[in-house]
Amino acid sequence: MAAYEYETHEYDVVVVGAGGAGLRATLGMAEQGLRTANVTKVFPTRSHTVAAQGGIAASLGNMGPDNWQWHMYDTVKGSDWLGDTDAMEYLAREAPKAVYELEHYGVPFSRTEEGKIYQRPFGGHTTEFGDGPPVQRTCAAADRTGHAILHTLYGQSLKNNAEFYIEYFAIDLIMSDDGAVQGVLCWKLDDGTFHLFSAKMVVLATGGYGRAYFSATSAHTCTGDGGGMVARAGLPLQDMEFVQFHPTGIYGAGCLITEGARGEGGYLTNAEGERFMERYAPHYKDLAPRDYVSRCMTMEIREGRGVGAHGDHIHLNLSHLPAEALAERLPGISESAKIFAGVDVTKEPIPVLPTVHYNMGGIPTNYWGEALNPTADDPNAVVPGLMAVGEAGCASVHGANRLGSNSLIDLVVFGRASAIRAGQIIEPGKPNAPVNLASVDKAFERFDGLRHATGGTPTAELRLEMQRTMQAHAAVFRTADVLKEGVELMEGVAAKLGDLHVTDRSLVWNSDLMETLELTNLMPNALATITGAEARHESRGAHAHEDYPTRDDDNWRVHTISRVEGNKAELSYRPVVLDPLTTEAEGGISLAKIAPKARTF
Ligand SMILES: Cc1cc2nc3c(=O)[nH]c(=O)nc-3n(C[C@H](O)[C@H](O)[C@H](O)COP(=O)(O)OP(=O)(O)OC[C@H]3O[C@@H](n4cnc5c(N)ncnc54)[C@H](O)[C@@H]3O)c2cc1C
Repeated sequence: MAAYEYETHEYDVVVVGAGGAGLRATLGMAEQGLRTANVTKVFPTRSHTVAAQGGIAASLGNMGPDNWQWHMYDTVKGSDWLGDTDAMEYLAREAPKAVYELEHYGVPFSRTEEGKIYQRPFGGHTTEFGDGPPVQRTCAAADRTGHAILHTLYGQSLKNNAEFYIEYFAIDLIMSDDGAVQGVLCWKLDDGTFHLFSAKMVVLATGGYGRAYFSATSAHTCTGDGGGMVARAGLPLQDMEFVQFHPTGIYGAGCLITEGARGEGGYLTNAEGERFMERYAPHYKDLAPRDYVSRCMTMEIREGRGVGAHGDHIHLNLSHLPAEALAERLPGISESAKIFAGVDVTKEPIPVLPTVHYNMGGIPTNYWGEALNPTADDPNAVVPGLMAVGEAGCASVHGANRLGSNSLIDLVVFGRASAIRAGQIIEPGKPNAPVNLASVDKAFERFDGLRHATGGTPTAELRLEMQRTMQAHAAVFRTADVLKEGVELMEGVAAKLGDLHVTDRSLVWNSDLMETLELTNLMPNALATITGAEARHESRGAHAHEDYPTRDDDNWRVHTISRVEGNKAELSYRPVVLDPLTTEAEGGISLAKIAPKARTF
């Protein structure tokens, strides 16, 4: 192997990723005086968070009564009772604080007449522990909420002297012999140099892996790099079978029409012009949670009531809403509908289809963001030196299904929590332990092998094969046969990583090689997803199994833990955390209130 030279940088903390989660973590770390580096493969404000439209959930109660206990209840129910109760309580309790902090940092939220933060209704967010009407809980900056949050957090991070390494691609984690994370090896994309970041804490905030599927609302950069790095370090992934399909991706293009469109009064119709959600969810109608609406849409299409020449999609109607409301509250999606579907939303319906949108699974963590490596003795054992936040992590607050607007709040609540925790356990300025050079060599060896790969399968071809297999075998409706065949196919697809062909051998702006590294990250995420889905013999949240149509709490209220080696994912299970942080007497929510029951809408 050619010897690669590299520069070493020493920090207290290195955060990989500059989306909402990575930036909130970076800002919190830097504010406390920890020497903090942020490494990101795209310019911070180009991270996928920029595309988040609808908003961020917090029980501010600006538009009517609300409280964190109701928000927590909705999150528990939304997760289909798979979320960890302590983490869900932490999310709901801390959410208002985290949003007011964003406001004070400068996020330009939309306002009510009295000047308070405007809040809109979103699916699954209710009052009175699910017994009352929908609540207006989702704070928004028009339909560009993620954009506003990213720009604000980036500015604040710079102000607090966080150091940014932009267009640096993190290749692999550097591990000590006894399993602690010591840093991360990176490739600077624009000049081909290498950089070893040594740190007391590495925070993975690398986002989701939507691009494991053929049709996704997420950016092409959402390739699950954190999950890939973790899998190669021998660490596990959790609950990967739970993949959220958003009901309203634009038919054909896949780009998103926010749930805020239904929050503002939009509704779905089938080929008969029927508002079919009234039949499936008499109470919440078009604002039932995403997994449920996606399944209902798929059912309508399968039963022959889809719209269009092929009867293969559904209509989203907004034209009954006042044109001024559309222009004020939903300007971005009006534009997207024009560009990507050729539709004027004031006159015609938008053609939509359930599209891969969010990964509930990820790197298991506790509610401080510390990564877990469960053992038989300790299901909550912490990996020294590693945290994961945002969509890359699995705290787990979304369980089997995430509620709309609960991800942006997850980014800032847990980004902030990771900084609070790091402040407790890191001694700033203390010299770092020497890095394990064998681990650095191993990372270079893998990189060099891919750079010079001379097999018969081009990266783009294998990626497409993976994406089509996942789309056909691990989508909204799942059966035992389809999943079993899918696992076999995916193991075959993953085995072909050994036969890749990379054409460009240079080190400067080599997108062929970067996409190859990304494919090696997507693959373990995809394998864990389909293998976990095949094994889970029940239906829960986003995992709807036609042969096991009901939820089975006796056997399956457990987290799936998968360790990927080569082309196989090995599964084990970890108990769900059932106890909340506080009891009813302490102002919390009673266990009886959040006991599992049927999820109806
Ligand atoms: C179109 C769309 C709309 C959405 N709307 C909403 C909404 O309204 N409300 C809501 O709550 N949620 C919404 N979501 C979900 C939410 O936006 C995402 O879950 C969230 O933004 C993910 O943020 P993140 O910080 O975890 O990662 P991202 O924003 O995806 O950022 C990932 C970061 O990691 C970096 N990175 C990745 N790999 C590497 C590597 N190998 N080396 C270096 N850097 C790397 C990237 O450069 C990037 O900075 C939406 C999602 C989509 C796709």
